[in-house]
Amino acid sequence: MAGLAWIVLYAGAIAAGQRSPALGKFVAFGLYLVPIVIAVVLSWFAAARTEGRVRLAWRLMFVSNALWFAAELTWGLYAYLAPKDAPVPSFADLGYLLSYATAVPAVLVGLGFGVLGGARGLFDFLLVFAAVFAVGWELVVGPLLPSSLSAGLQALVAFFFPVISMSIFSSLIAAVVAGRRRVPVSMILVGVAFGLSAASEAGYLYLSKFLHVIQPYAGSGWLNLGWQAEAVLLCIAALVAVRRSEGDQRLTPDRDMTILPALVAFLTVVGLAVFDLVLVDELRAVTLAVSVLLMVGLLLRQILAVRDRARLTRQLQTAADTDSLTGLYNRRFCAEMLHAEAGLSARRQTPLSLILIDLDHFKNVNDTYGHAAGDVVLVEAAHRLRRTLRASDLVSRYGGEEFLCVLPGTGEEAAVALAEHIRSALSRTPVTIPDVTDGVVLTASLGVSTGRTSRQGTPIDVDKLVNAADQAVYRAKAQGRDRVVGPGQPSRPDLDPLSEIPAELIWLADQIDARVGDHEHSAAVSRWSLRTAARVGLDQAVQHRTAAAARLHDVGKIGVDWTLLAKPTPLNAQEWEQIRRHPEEGARLVTHLADRQDLAPLIAAHHERYDGTGYPRGLAGANIPVEARVIAVCDAWATMRASRPYSPVLADIHARDELARGRGTQFDPVVVDAFLALLDEGVIDEPAPLRSRTWGPRSGRARVGFLPADRQDRHPAR
Ligand code: GH3
Ligand code: MG
Ligand code: MG
Repeated sequence: MAGLAWIVLYAGAIAAGQRSPALGKFVAFGLYLVPIVIAVVLSWFAAARTEGRVRLAWRLMFVSNALWFAAELTWGLYAYLAPKDAPVPSFADLGYLLSYATAVPAVLVGLGFGVLGGARGLFDFLLVFAAVFAVGWELVVGPLLPSSLSAGLQALVAFFFPVISMSIFSSLIAAVVAGRRRVPVSMILVGVAFGLSAASEAGYLYLSKFLHVIQPYAGSGWLNLGWQAEAVLLCIAALVAVRRSEGDQRLTPDRDMTILPALVAFLTVVGLAVFDLVLVDELRAVTLAVSVLLMVGLLLRQILAVRDRARLTRQLQTAADTDSLTGLYNRRFCAEMLHAEAGLSARRQTPLSLILIDLDHFKNVNDTYGHAAGDVVLVEAAHRLRRTLRASDLVSRYGGEEFLCVLPGTGEEAAVALAEHIRSALSRTPVTIPDVTDGVVLTASLGVSTGRTSRQGTPIDVDKLVNAADQAVYRAKAQGRDRVVGPGQPSRPDLDPLSEIPAELIWLADQIDARVGDHEHSAAVSRWSLRTAARVGLDQAVQHRTAAAARLHDVGKIGVDWTLLAKPTPLNAQEWEQIRRHPEEGARLVTHLADRQDLAPLIAAHHERYDGTGYPRGLAGANIPVEARVIAVCDAWATMRASRPYSPVLADIHARDELARGRGTQFDPVVVDAFLALLDEGVIDEPAPLRSRTWGPRSGRARVGFLPADRQDRHPAR
């Protein structure tokens, strides 16, 4: 607004100056300097207030403006002191020239090379630049070209001003049209300023060269308005640079510039041709040359565009097939490839194997070191996988911390061997992550499955194959993790957790179970405890200990009056006293009869409660051995799901409710969650009925009716 007001004011002053020569001189040499001085100050201010590239641009603009001001001052001195004998070219001309020369790098720096975004951007830029410059040349600059060097230095120097202004202006237009980034508004203003300047220079030259209206070094009157506007625009540009922080703003990730530069080039050619035909009446060689140049340029840029598009398509395709974190193939692509490979294997009659890899306890890595560290570990795991596999194998990220390898033409034995390689490659050295000195030890459970096309030609069932690998991983987890389980590989006999328990103790446990119910009890509790312990992530040794302790957890009841065990009515205080001794009695028995001191504290604690209200010692939370916490949940389930003389069988859904209710009070919440999950998966089977008892005296008592709800202790078992 203020800028516009100034231009109007200055126009008025020029009008007034036409009548009074003294006022005219003041307007031309005094008032004229005002916006230039302001431009100098503001560009210095802009340089102080901006940063980086923009700051450098405005420093250069400051130099340019200061040179301009110095040149104007010199010009004024000539006008006042030596109106007749100013040297040609003068020092003022030198100042103007240097001022323009610094403006060029200022604008280039202000735009930043990044504005073009690569080779094609540069090409587009040059194309548009050439087109705009060609038009400018034809209309403004060309006619002013001195006919020969003899025209003198003065004419040559004067000719350079519009050429430089034109270049700056064309660059700006080209950057706006062809740039991949938003051109800073302040730089657009600078460009327009130089556009005005070019027009004024041209007007000045036209007037002095062709019409001889203006005497060199006389005040140029109305033409001054153009340069005044230039100065005002430079002021505004500096202010804009300070006000808006003009960082690099991308227009779009890949602004498609198919049409704009082509359009500009086309219009230029048409424009030049029309100009020639109307004004010169023939197509000049220059026009033809420019046209050919632009057309060749267009053709080349089209070739570049096609090449870029092909590359982009390839990138998109790759991105759609790969996992962004690890760079491995993703699950979707892997499934596709797996089907393709199954087809190929059928045709070639070759086997096809899978290795499914599930990192062990990966949740712990996230929980302990954070998700970012977890990501680092995943990337490193992927790296180790890729390094270990052969070129013909395909490895994908199948799930969060699961990887699936597809091994075409690989049989069972080779696949298991390769899986063993992978296992050791993953765990051999800890994975280094930032801020963790020792790194993270990484292990995985691997499941291998192999498929073959049958002789009858039935193709490999891909779903079954994946399922088999999944089952194998499950078994690897259950057996203690950090291992490879092959297709249909049975658990090894030495993996039987009960193999070291004396048969007599097992017999005793069965005898006691038979006293209290007609379904197996400790056998089922042992089975479920093994699975639950695996699910909560206990090591294999701990899992086995849990299963063994579970099998013997009730043997201490041998010391309880046998009628009490099946007593259908509530127990009195003395009777309870007897019952409450069985955990410690059991601990004593396994120590003395089986030499299993390791099981004693577990059995002793199997009636402790998580909240500390259990017996015999009232242990709470982590003070209860984890094995005992696992057994407590499984024991409660077995009791609820089988009828007892003192309590009826509970329906599955009610028994689940009971577990959920005891979560955090009676039971360890982690164990309850694991157990409920196993129930959901159908891993927890039903206790088998005891049809015939092979050993020992039969219980004389048949089952009697049950007591209703006033049971003081519905579960766990007494
Ligand atoms: P298990 O030994 O039984 O396999 O235990 P686990 O903890 O590895 O298995 P679970 O399936 O319970 O947990 C997998 C974890 O993997 C949970 C999830 O937070 C983590 N996870 C999945 N995807 C990513 C990922 O992209 N980055 C990170 N940091 N963690 C992930
Ligand atoms: Mg998992
Ligand atoms: Mg896992």
